[in-house]
Amino acid sequence: MDVAGSVGSPPIENLVIVGSGPAGYTAAIYAARANLNPLLVTGFQRGGIPGGQLMTTTHVENFPGFPDGVMGPKLMDLMKAQAIRWGTHLLEADADVIDLSQRPFQLEVDGTTIKTHALIIATGASANRLGLPQEQRFWSRGISACAICDGATPQFRNEKLAVVGGGDSACEEAMYLTKYGSHVHLLVRSNRLRASAAMADRVQANPQISVHWNTEVVDASGDDWLNSLQLRDRDTKQEEELMVRGLFYAIGHTPNTDLVVNQLDCDAKGYLKTNPGRPETSIEGVFAAGDVADAEWRQGITAAGSGCQAALLAERWLSGNDLATLMKRESVEPAQTDAAPPTQISSDQNFNPDGLWQKGSYALRKLYHDSSRPLLVVYTSPSCGPCHVLKPQLKRVLKELGGQAQGVEIDIEANQEIAEQAGVNGTPTVQLFQAKNLIHQWKGVKQRSVFKAAIEDLLNAST
Ligand code: NDP
Repeated sequence: MDVAGSVGSPPIENLVIVGSGPAGYTAAIYAARANLNPLLVTGFQRGGIPGGQLMTTTHVENFPGFPDGVMGPKLMDLMKAQAIRWGTHLLEADADVIDLSQRPFQLEVDGTTIKTHALIIATGASANRLGLPQEQRFWSRGISACAICDGATPQFRNEKLAVVGGGDSACEEAMYLTKYGSHVHLLVRSNRLRASAAMADRVQANPQISVHWNTEVVDASGDDWLNSLQLRDRDTKQEEELMVRGLFYAIGHTPNTDLVVNQLDCDAKGYLKTNPGRPETSIEGVFAAGDVADAEWRQGITAAGSGCQAALLAERWLSGNDLATLMKRESVEPAQTDAAPPTQISSDQNFNPDGLWQKGSYALRKLYHDSSRPLLVVYTSPSCGPCHVLKPQLKRVLKELGGQAQGVEIDIEANQEIAEQAGVNGTPTVQLFQAKNLIHQWKGVKQRSVFKAAIEDLLNAST
């Protein structure tokens, strides 16, 4: 095999893992413990959010080791911490190009070229949309792909809501939305739920949920917010109008293979083809793990298992080809992980006028009225995975700006009125204020550089 790094050229990684769901992090844990010094490209906006699909679920009740369940984002935090503890390097950005036509393989990430001998593709899958004629018009104005992120917003409180789909996601979202809506309609295109029996039983026993069988959504209507859905019975072809203020999609996923689809063999549905039950792809040294190569099981635990297989095989392949450069550990036992303490809600007792990051309505009021510095307000909800991803990025921006700007987090579940006044219709939403003026608003997860540039523009304009 023709591979070597010449003097002066960037170092060649042993192993790069692309994707930060259970497959990616498990591969990283195994590769790091094998002293392979792996680099994990977490992804950022392409194909979902860092941490993968478990970031947009609530209680994961079937991941072994958590008898009482664990929140999806919490589980991913634990996997990430474990991968880092054993020496995984993280690059929190999207891979933009993967070139498998040469060895070492080459990736473009955030403007940087990365070379690697071995590659694990663990890019997962993205949520599908229905593509209704009026979908774009009502996107974030009643239609959402994430009940867990957007369900707590004021517009859905005590309103009738609908979920489309019949799998575990749809059932979970329907259950979750009963916390907020007055009633939830589950719209199922066939005459059966594909969800696990436990989930299906729970949904069908819940008086706050009505299941509509053989039902398809034809279109949505409303004025500035969704008001109703046109439904069609797939047997009788009869149409009816269902009055709802929210429609949540849970209709499955499409594998994230766009960067490699023309380079690796894929099946008819677009999933990466591997040897049955194994992680080898059609190119030697490239391995697949998790949902990107799994149209059948698609569980957190099966993704984690396949990540383990991919890392063990990558290690075997690297050493078989004499390509691995093993790292030397300073100490045999890496330091324990340390979790950052949660931010306390500010009150007149602990409010700090110079604090970089505070939480709650008291801090918002004080800083909004009294501070002359740019103020970032992030609206979050308790189980919102994307909020979980975004907050550390915002904190990092504020830290880099050395106190020239400040941040406040508002939990919209605890501060309904503020969210309503601010016109927040989904989380995370970020608003940038200066001198009580709203300068910018962003919805969803954005790159750190976007927030930083907007704040720097304000700072430059005021000097
Ligand atoms: P699934 O692929 O399991 O289910 C998708 C559902 O959407 C099916 O009911 C399907 O209908 C329906 N659907 C697909 N396209 C359309 C369409 N155009 N119009 C209407 N309905 C449509 O996806 P999930 O996201 O629910 O689950 C993915 C995996 O993740 C599964 O393995 C699941 O078990 C797992 N999961 C586990 C959870 C947990 O354990 N806590 C939570 C969430 C997911 P049809 O059945 O007719 O094809």
